Amino acid sequence: MALKLETEKPLLGDFNYSNFEEILLSKNKKKFLASQVFQWFYQKLEFDPDNWSNISKENREFIQKEFSLDLPKVVWHGLSEDGTRKFLLKMLDGNTVEAVVIPAKDRLTLCISSQVGCAIGCTFCHTGTQGLTRHLNPSEIVGQYTVVSRWLKDEVDPEIRLTNIVYMGMGEPLHNFENVKTASELFLEDKGLGLGQRRVTLSTSGLVPQIEKLEEFPPINFAISLHAAHDNIRTELMPINKVYDLKRLFQAIKKIPLKAHRRITYEYLLIDSMNDRQEDIDALCDLINFKESKVNLIPFNEYPGCDFKRPSNNKIRWFQEALCERGLTCTVRTTKGNDILAACGQLKTFLESSKKNLWE
Ligand code: SAH
Ligand code: SF4
Repeated sequence: MALKLETEKPLLGDFNYSNFEEILLSKNKKKFLASQVFQWFYQKLEFDPDNWSNISKENREFIQKEFSLDLPKVVWHGLSEDGTRKFLLKMLDGNTVEAVVIPAKDRLTLCISSQVGCAIGCTFCHTGTQGLTRHLNPSEIVGQYTVVSRWLKDEVDPEIRLTNIVYMGMGEPLHNFENVKTASELFLEDKGLGLGQRRVTLSTSGLVPQIEKLEEFPPINFAISLHAAHDNIRTELMPINKVYDLKRLFQAIKKIPLKAHRRITYEYLLIDSMNDRQEDIDALCDLINFKESKVNLIPFNEYPGCDFKRPSNNKIRWFQEALCERGLTCTVRTTKGNDILAACGQLKTFLESSKKNLWE
């Protein structure tokens, strides 16, 4: 389902380091060339082979002949009052996805998309209402990071560095398992982007068969979009719960390989009068393993036309304090970038419906 035209050259950005090296060796090139190309492409963020000064002309031409170096393009960006910076990126086939830069005290996080749209259809999610158009390939997933990094260097500050990645933009990353796995390898490997394992977090709505295969993934952090501790409420919010209910989900979560001192994050959307009651606190505490878990409460981000409401600030504080008192590690995600439609999938729809000729 990922973009692939018969006549196209393979995309350089679709290979992890060992596969790229293998291909070059099979074409009678030296291993060293693989290392040089990766250094330019991922570390120096120099995407134009004409500028790869320490590589011979012959080898530069070889790379261009054998591989496509195409990357997504920034077609819109907006800066929110709180420092959140949102990007709309256009893929080769014209599809667009969102990526958001979120500043915090000690880090600069990029929230990336894994698909154009999403097939999971959560009733509260704007991306969910769009359905799935297609999976993103590894070069489009990692490309969000490299292209935005380069943009920030050129436009904001040459010293700026993104430090963390969360797969919390558009799409269900585990539905696009192989491509997200390759992209995560590229994020972690030294020859690629060299990010620390704890700096990459994948969030999933709970695709049980794929959760059961997570030992195939590099050891990144995992977050589960739980949103309700009762099956009937979770099914109302997330139709996936009809297929993989809480019991099956938690059986699968138990098998996730956790490195020492690592914990699973449970994302819990707080929606007014839906899942913010005392009985929800009780059910949540019964459901999760306190030692290996932390809970991130996400106040619902309202958007035009949605039926759900954000609870009051008092209610949100009460919910958090009640969980903390029970001994759970629990944080509240401050809503960022509201003035630039930062909730998942909203910007794309807004721009595409209001300014149809934006990318002309
Ligand atoms: N598909 C994956 C990852 C992308 S969504 C998943 O569902 O986990 C990332 C997070 O944004 C999820 O926890 C999702 O529930 C949350 N989200 C979606 N719409 C939202 C909204 N309107 N307000 C607040 N959070 C929202
Ligand atoms: Fe897809 Fe995640 Fe939105 Fe659900 S919340 S529709 S899984 S992107």
